[in-house]
Amino acid sequence: MPTKGRILRVNGPLVVAEGMKASQMFEVVEVGDLGLIGEITRIEGDRAYIQVYEDTSGIKPGEPVLGTGAPLSAELGPGLLGQIVDGLERPLGRIAEISESPFIQRGVKVPSLDRQKKWHFVPKVKKGDKVYPGDILGTVQETQLIEHRIIVPPNVQGTLKEVASEGEYTVEENIGIVNMNGDEVPVSMIQKWPARIPRPFKEKLEPSEPLLTGVRVLDTIFPLAKGGTAAIPGPFGAGKTVTLQSLAKWSSAKIVIYVGCGERGNELTDELRAFPTLKDPWTGRPLLERTILVANTSNMPVAARETSIYMGVTIGEYFRDQGYDVLVVADSTTRWAEALRDLGGRMEEMPAEEGFPSYLPSRLAEYYERAGKVRTLGNLDRFGSVTLASAVSPPGGDFTEPVTSNTLRFVKVFWPLDVSLAHARHFPAVNWLQGFSAYTDLVSKWWDQNVNPQWKEIRESMVKTLIREDELKQIVRLVGPESLSERDKLVLEVARLIKEAFLKQNAFDDIDAFSSPQKQYRIMKLIDFYNKFATNLVEKGMPVKKISEGITVVTDIIKSKAIIKNDELNKYDELENTLKSQFEQLEKKVI
Ligand code: ADP
Repeated sequence: MPTKGRILRVNGPLVVAEGMKASQMFEVVEVGDLGLIGEITRIEGDRAYIQVYEDTSGIKPGEPVLGTGAPLSAELGPGLLGQIVDGLERPLGRIAEISESPFIQRGVKVPSLDRQKKWHFVPKVKKGDKVYPGDILGTVQETQLIEHRIIVPPNVQGTLKEVASEGEYTVEENIGIVNMNGDEVPVSMIQKWPARIPRPFKEKLEPSEPLLTGVRVLDTIFPLAKGGTAAIPGPFGAGKTVTLQSLAKWSSAKIVIYVGCGERGNELTDELRAFPTLKDPWTGRPLLERTILVANTSNMPVAARETSIYMGVTIGEYFRDQGYDVLVVADSTTRWAEALRDLGGRMEEMPAEEGFPSYLPSRLAEYYERAGKVRTLGNLDRFGSVTLASAVSPPGGDFTEPVTSNTLRFVKVFWPLDVSLAHARHFPAVNWLQGFSAYTDLVSKWWDQNVNPQWKEIRESMVKTLIREDELKQIVRLVGPESLSERDKLVLEVARLIKEAFLKQNAFDDIDAFSSPQKQYRIMKLIDFYNKFATNLVEKGMPVKKISEGITVVTDIIKSKAIIKNDELNKYDELENTLKSQFEQLEKKVI
């Protein structure tokens, strides 16, 4: 019997109900005459504290509260791709169709997955087969880009008594019956999973393959790995959204879940508008065919923002379990943490740093813990990954505030955006002195095998030059430019080349937006070549000014990123030859 209680008090999104003794922590309840959806976040005696995900105005003490007996769960199955859902996984597009309004009416119950739509199911197992959690029962070509693999849910195993033949089925129709210790368990294409609990897998593996983004400063200077974690903190206007959209569009993940927890309604509307128009750069198909958007519109209360990242990552894990590399992008976790703070305050919890609840760090840790490259459940070896990349929007750009500083403790890649770089139109405005990646060594093997064994060495040399440049700039500030030796001046010149030719990248330029790893390497090689030859000449006594004047091809090298396409890299040979011959000419002038 589900619990039935009564509302005692209403405080914004927080409702306290009595008569709730039989309810459970994190149980979903229907609140008030409208049946608003809420979740129990604290139980004291027969009182339950409920976080309500819809606007509670007009709801009064005395109205009923009904338990559902189930935790907040994600509905998983074909039909998710291309959807825009809210933090409760309600399909905003279909709701708009049904209610002929873009705003969700309160209390509206629309299932996440379309119940009418038929999918073409192709079985991969037969009657009598033994199946275990994670085994693939069959497939559905959900979109042109993605084959949806229907997997045995984590709690089902046994012998298949029946398997549906190839044909058209709705998500609710049975596609198999599993004999589980004598019980007949019907299996459909839908499964449910509690959003706050990680989905199971066989084994977590160390990430080793880069999650390529095509953004040079990210891939080469601070690489992310499939199954890794990254944070992008930056003040307003520093380029968080552009960077996250580049990731969604270009990264080597097969499936992208974009969780938008915008504060201002228009921030998110822009994203929602932008996404349906984006094309998958690899196939020319709509990007939505491999993307799911979890969005909180401005008219939704803060509580729904809190759940959205869990919905996003649960959907991500489900596709991971099918054997896909998934990227879950959250924009931004600061808004999520603010929702947590708001709700904690209403619950009269003791606030910790800057009013955030004391459990903020553990919640962040739990979230990032859900990233990983795994060996999935299932009989046959299958691997999948969930990569988590989140924007953080520290007020005033102060990285010591609690959300940024705690996030930093749990992520392995840090891409800090610097407003002064953004003002100087240096995009992506990733601060190369503050950023870090713990995956550089792990992924360098991949670069070694797939691109060039020199990648790591040249990368290190570039990073060293940038660090040295910073030191030299400080010296110049203190004692003036006269104090610099010719060698030092060369460092500044090479650093300029690194920034202009490599780090700066225009996300809106058709050619420059995405650099293949091979292209990144070709540019790096030119920079390295320049560095070595110029150092040699400086050592022989040539002033840097003369080198800069003599090596005119540098201008073309800088421009090449937006001229040479990823599939015409042999054009770099020409630049390399010119560079070489210009240096040979200069060398002759050394006396
Ligand atoms: P945020 O989300 O941090 O507030 P945005 O991502 O909206 O910032 O970026 C602000 C502006 O900066 C963009 O509208 C764009 O003009 C510029 N910008 C950011 N990143 C890039 C980039 N990689 N290439 C070109 N322009 C960029």
